[in-house]
Amino acid sequence: MTIHYERLSATNKDYLWHPFTQMKDYNNSDPLIIERGEGIKLYDVNGRAYYDGFSSVWLNVHGHNVPELNQAITDQLGRIAHSTLLGMANVPAIELAEKLVGISPKGLKKVFYSDSGATGVEIAVKMAFQYWKNQGQEGKTKFITMNQAYHGDTIGAVSVGAIPLYHDVFRPMLFPSYVIPYPYAYRHDGGEQEAKEATLIALRHLLETSANEIAALIVEPIVQGASGIIIMPKGCLQEMAALCRKYGVLFIADEVATGFGRTGEMFACDLEDVSPDLMVIGKGLTGGYLPVAATLTTDEVYNAFYGDYEEQKTFFHGHSFTGNPLGCAVALASLKLFEERNIIEGVRSKASFVERKLSILNDSQHVGDIRQMGLMIGIELVRNKVTREPYAWSEKIGVRVTQKARELGMLTRPLGNVIVFIPPLVSTEAELEVMTDILVEAILSVTEEENIL
Ligand SMILES: *Cc1c(COP(=O)(O)O)cnc(C)c1O
Repeated sequence: MTIHYERLSATNKDYLWHPFTQMKDYNNSDPLIIERGEGIKLYDVNGRAYYDGFSSVWLNVHGHNVPELNQAITDQLGRIAHSTLLGMANVPAIELAEKLVGISPKGLKKVFYSDSGATGVEIAVKMAFQYWKNQGQEGKTKFITMNQAYHGDTIGAVSVGAIPLYHDVFRPMLFPSYVIPYPYAYRHDGGEQEAKEATLIALRHLLETSANEIAALIVEPIVQGASGIIIMPKGCLQEMAALCRKYGVLFIADEVATGFGRTGEMFACDLEDVSPDLMVIGKGLTGGYLPVAATLTTDEVYNAFYGDYEEQKTFFHGHSFTGNPLGCAVALASLKLFEERNIIEGVRSKASFVERKLSILNDSQHVGDIRQMGLMIGIELVRNKVTREPYAWSEKIGVRVTQKARELGMLTRPLGNVIVFIPPLVSTEAELEVMTDILVEAILSVTEEENIL
């Protein structure tokens, strides 16, 4: 290790506090310090290369240091880096809004920008709330979320979150939400069909009894991400959306993780022809380059805020960097690459390739469930395959497997006992071959070494 690394590492420990990180563990490790990226690889300050096996936390699309994306930012920088969207506009923000409406599920007609998935969710929640209030329906103030849901880390987003480990400590400061079961087929005694039924029955019952006090349902469509990449049984999302429509409750799709081709369609809602009332996008929106997010909604929601100044129906919400021109410019360039490079069709064939490659794990004693939608993959490890007994939290099995993967040259982050593989959408088959080999080797070596102990 170089002196350069030693110095940075010491300064890192002195000054930085990292997100979702126990700093005691971190400070006792040799932290990875990234210097640059090229294609789907990241290079640390010691010159070592790593495959980006989790798309830098699920956002990278076209790889790193992409000439076309860099150019779009440089071109925009030569004009202006930032001006506000409060009561005025900028060129890339307008052009991107038109483009986003063009690719989104039908019915979504208006774009409200922000700067992270969490703020996009805050906006959806506040918009849904005020939508009903503006129409004189003061009683519709509550939200429905799903068990183990994750929608970001700001207070409103945490209030519609349901991951005890992350959210319970804050419960006293949150607004309460209704929680319905998420259809987690692998851990449901009745399997896929019954898991789906249980969700739909709970939702129908809640709507029958309480729709008059509910503003909206929020859901991670088709794939619940942070809970462990859990795929919904077919048809579930569509039926949930239909129930909400029937009972007059808004349907919010949080596409922050699933949007922009990740599941093999532009949006996960497209997999079941669902048109939400509000849709939140972030992560892949700029190709993973800059912090831009957006909340899209229908004319119907928009029109409930439209009126004379004195009526005070305005949506009083905004952020300093709302509609940032650099971010919007790179998002436009990213969408252009989606078209020119047929990214989404590519995802479908690459997904089948990865599925074949990972099928070798089916025989492994400690691989309980391999879940995949497009290039979003979660592999749940278990102590006992027959009884599905999980590894104890304290065994840190996920952490150990991803540490092994790092030694072998690929980066990813586990979700408890679930190993996440979310490669950049442009990864080639040759690259996916190497990455899946690393993944399989890391899983087998760590779980089988366990057998010997
Ligand atoms: C990552 C994520 C968020 C939060 O996005 P940030 O940009 O990290 O605030 C919200 N919802 C889902 C489904 C996510 O995966």
